[in-house]
Amino acid sequence: MAQADFEKESTANATWSRLLAGNRRFAEGKNEHPWQDPQTRESLIDRQNPDAAVLSCSDSRVPPEIVFDAGLGDLFTIRTAGQVIDDAVLASLEYAVDSLHVSLLIVMGHEGCGAIDLATHELDSMIDAATTDPASSLEAADAMDDLDERIAESESIILRSVGMSIWQAREAEVDDPADIERVHVAHTIEDLVSRSEVIQNALAHDRLMIVGARYQLSNGKVEVLSF
Ligand SMILES: [Zn+2]
Repeated sequence: MAQADFEKESTANATWSRLLAGNRRFAEGKNEHPWQDPQTRESLIDRQNPDAAVLSCSDSRVPPEIVFDAGLGDLFTIRTAGQVIDDAVLASLEYAVDSLHVSLLIVMGHEGCGAIDLATHELDSMIDAATTDPASSLEAADAMDDLDERIAESESIILRSVGMSIWQAREAEVDDPADIERVHVAHTIEDLVSRSEVIQNALAHDRLMIVGARYQLSNGKVEVLSF
């Protein structure tokens, strides 16, 4: 590994450690609210140099700057319900990687995600519709066989992304809600890597580290996921 690559990797690890330390402060009620003063704001007027990008849920209880006790200029954040990816999300992440040179990308799901409830409901409705209409049980079995195609072709982006994660979890006989949230984070990372050449390149050249995380509403802690 070239010296520059090594430095990039250690920067990503150091950033992640610093953010997790911030999360421990937050969970313990010892927030320092760093870098939120007028001097920091003024020092950032002409430029930004965030260390990390965060893709997380829009849920009002999960703001990354607060749960990581971070400040101005620290995090480039992209939030959608269920951290669902579309072209705008990919373009924003690619901007963070290529133009802002973030070395760390955090994909963060959370406990009690409403988008997962919604997708579960939509998926069950789709399964009900597929299995109750056919004239024979054989047709119903066929409908279940091509369920992944039906999900992939659905008009609902929540169903296509979160619903696909839930379906994959069910196929693997995972039914604990916390585990489904973890599977969805893993699936989201897979999806964004497969859809973005910019991110593939950054990973191939050790310019980027991607980590999965799950925020726990009940105790304020960010769980680090390993896949
Ligand atoms: Zn959510």
